[in-house]
Amino acid sequence: MKPAAFEYHAPHTPAEAVDLVSRFGDDAKFIAGGQSLMPLLTLRLATFGHLVDLRRLTELHGIRTEGTTVRIGATTTHSSIGRDADIRRLVPLLARATPLIGHFQIRNRGTLGGSLAHADAAAEYPAVALTLDATIGTLSPRGRRSIAASEFFRGMWTTAMEPDELVTDIAFPVLHGRWGFAIEEFTRRSGDFAIAGAAVAVQLDADARIEQCAITVFGLSPAPARARAVEAELVGRAATEIDATDLGGAVTDLLDSVPSDIHGTAEYRRRVGAVMVTRAWARALKEAL
Ligand SMILES: Cc1cc2nc3c(=O)[nH]c(=O)nc-3n(C[C@H](O)[C@H](O)[C@H](O)COP(=O)(O)OP(=O)(O)OC[C@H]3O[C@@H](n4cnc5c(N)ncnc54)[C@H](O)[C@@H]3O)c2cc1C
Repeated sequence: MKPAAFEYHAPHTPAEAVDLVSRFGDDAKFIAGGQSLMPLLTLRLATFGHLVDLRRLTELHGIRTEGTTVRIGATTTHSSIGRDADIRRLVPLLARATPLIGHFQIRNRGTLGGSLAHADAAAEYPAVALTLDATIGTLSPRGRRSIAASEFFRGMWTTAMEPDELVTDIAFPVLHGRWGFAIEEFTRRSGDFAIAGAAVAVQLDADARIEQCAITVFGLSPAPARARAVEAELVGRAATEIDATDLGGAVTDLLDSVPSDIHGTAEYRRRVGAVMVTRAWARALKEAL
């Protein structure tokens, strides 16, 4: 199928892009890689009279290391992130998540900003942003703001952004010390969205006790979810005394709105999710030890 007719806009600055979207209101939409938006338009599940293409906004593209932060422009593609040596070294969880996203054609076009703005509950990058406490920079007619990932994801395809707000960049902290990171997901076919997934970041102190940790599940609730109650209980415990299988169950026990659909019942997803947490925890811990 083909999308309904729309007017195409190709602004050259973020301010111009924001101005266009706010001028046309609900009838306008930003388009970045088009990997989520175009399927919706071609299936006519969504219709917009104006599409504002972000591709020419060169200042939104690229990866910069700024002291203890790696700042990634919103229109940086998944592929660029996946092959960047600094990302692999300084934000390894992001690098490890990238090959799990779709297929290489999708990774060549899809963007980090598009993935976060689209906020699919089963997507990898929102889960990584939440795990690493990333900060999302935005621009709107009301100015710039920084939104913590913990505030950003509000529900199914819903974020804290206003419709005329543009993601400009995403800042990831560089975590120094005895850290381990892992992401695990279960899909029926390679490249599919996760039926259930988990991302873990864990830091150990000199005695191999948990100094801090983050455990995020995705595909198991309307938005990626941190298991903060479980994380808090783990702090201070000896890493080797923690039973990873018990941990998986404890995390999924916290979830109260696990989706049920043709890909799996809520009960099935919960059980698979527990296994993903167990695996991610064990792998992250192995790296930290
Ligand atoms: C077959 C297939 C398989 C896929 N598998 C996966 C997968 O396994 N995991 C996964 O995470 N994703 C998957 N995707 C989606 C892919 O990663 C998308 O690229 C991504 O979700 C959206 O990025 P995009 O740049 O293509 O955004 P677009 O499709 O251009 O836009 C998506 C939404 O975000 C908005 N938007 C885009 N950029 C911005 C911005 N800078 N500021 C504000 N709003 C913005 C748009 O207005 C639109 O609402 C898959 C896609 C396909 C087609």
